[in-house]
Amino acid sequence: MPEHMPIMIGDKAIEKFIEFCQQKQYEKLMIVADKNTARALGDRVFQAVKQKEWDVIYHVLDPEGLHTDEITLTRVLNAYDAIPRLFVAVGSGTITDTVRFTSHRSQNQFVSFPTAPSVDAYTSKNAPVTINHLKGSIYCHAPIAIFTDLPTICASPKFLTASGFGDLISKLTAPSDWKMSHLIWDADFDEEIYASGLRAGQRAAEVVDGIRTADPKSMIAMMEGQFASGFCMADFGNSAPASGGEHHIAHVWEMMFHWEKKEGLYHGHAVGVAAIICAEWYQRLKALSRKDAGVLLERSEIPSRSAQIAAIEKNLPRIAEELIESDPIYLQLSDPEKFKTICERILDRWDDVQATAVVVPDADAIRGWIKSLGGPVTPQELGVTKEQVEIAIDYAHYLRERFSINILRKLFGW
Ligand SMILES: [Zn+2]
Repeated sequence: MPEHMPIMIGDKAIEKFIEFCQQKQYEKLMIVADKNTARALGDRVFQAVKQKEWDVIYHVLDPEGLHTDEITLTRVLNAYDAIPRLFVAVGSGTITDTVRFTSHRSQNQFVSFPTAPSVDAYTSKNAPVTINHLKGSIYCHAPIAIFTDLPTICASPKFLTASGFGDLISKLTAPSDWKMSHLIWDADFDEEIYASGLRAGQRAAEVVDGIRTADPKSMIAMMEGQFASGFCMADFGNSAPASGGEHHIAHVWEMMFHWEKKEGLYHGHAVGVAAIICAEWYQRLKALSRKDAGVLLERSEIPSRSAQIAAIEKNLPRIAEELIESDPIYLQLSDPEKFKTICERILDRWDDVQATAVVVPDADAIRGWIKSLGGPVTPQELGVTKEQVEIAIDYAHYLRERFSINILRKLFGW
C-alpha cells in the first residue's frame, strides 16, 4: 500500500495545524470556507493563523447554491493572488473538492479541515467537478495532511451525518460492482483495496447506533471509514473501489438537479437511496440459480446500437454526446458476438458472481440504518420526480466503464 498523508483526529486540530505549518515553514496561506463552515471552524483557523502574523487570504464563499463548478472554481482562483501558498480547505465535500482542484491547477499543496462526516472524498485525489453540465471525476491531488476537529464533527448537522452514512454504506455495494467488473469485464482489480473498502462499509453498519447519538468514538470510526474509502480510490487511481452503480444513479439525479438549478440534493442522501435500489437487485441475484440465470440470459435482448444511441439522446440530451463517445459497456454489448462471450463468462463464473452478491446486505437492512439516522430512503424523499427515477435507473449504467449490478439486472430483464 502506498504511504498516506498524516491524519489527526481530536480536539487539538488547530494547534496541530499551526505546529505543522511551523515545521514545514508554510507562512503564506489561502483559507477557503463557506459562511457555514467559517462559523463552525474556519474563523478559528483564520484567527490562529493571523495571530502568527502569517500572510493569509481568507476566502469565504456563499453556501447558497454552491457547487464545485466553473463558477465556484473561478471565484476561488480570482481571490487567489498567484504566489505560492498552502491552500486550506475548511468544509465538507464541495469546499474540499473546490480547493483540491484550484490548489492543484495553481501548483500549490493543500490541507483539509473536514467539518462534517458527510463524504468519503477527503483523502481522495479526484474531485467530482461539474463542467459544461457534466459531472465528472477529475484527477487532482490529495491533501498533504488532514486536521479533524472532533467537536466540530460531533456537532455537525444531523442531515450531513446521515448523508455521510449513505455515502459510506455504499461501500457495501460498490466493492461488489467493482469485483463483478473484474470477473465479467476484466477490469483491473486489487484484492487488498477491495477488502479495505468493504470493511469501511461494514464498520459503518456496526457503529450506526453510536453515530445516531454523535458518540465521539463512533464518529471517529465514521471519519476513519470515510478516510479509508478515499484512500481506496486514491491508491487504485480511480473511483472504482468505492463508487459503483449506486453512485451512477445518484450522479444522474445530482446532474438533473444541477441542470434544473434545483437545490437541496445531498450526495450521500442520493447515494444511500440508490444503494437501497442496487441492494434490491443484489438480493434478486442472490436468489438466482445458475440454471435460471442461463434461461434469462438466453431470453435477453440487447437493443441495437442505433436504438440505444437514440434513447440516450432522448433521455439524457445534455450529456448524450460525451456518454456515447465514451463507448459504454452496454452499448458495446449490442454486438451479438461480444454479448454471447459475456453471457458465457457470467455462467462460467457463476459461483464468483454469486459471491459478490453475498456480501451485500438486504435492502431492508440498509433502509433501516439510514432511516434510524433520519436520512431519506426513497427517491420521493429526495425530491426526485418519477420520471427522473426511471431515467436514472435505466440510463445510469452509461455513466462509467463498470460492469455493475445496473447492467447485470438489465441482462436479466429485471
Ligand atoms: Zn460518494
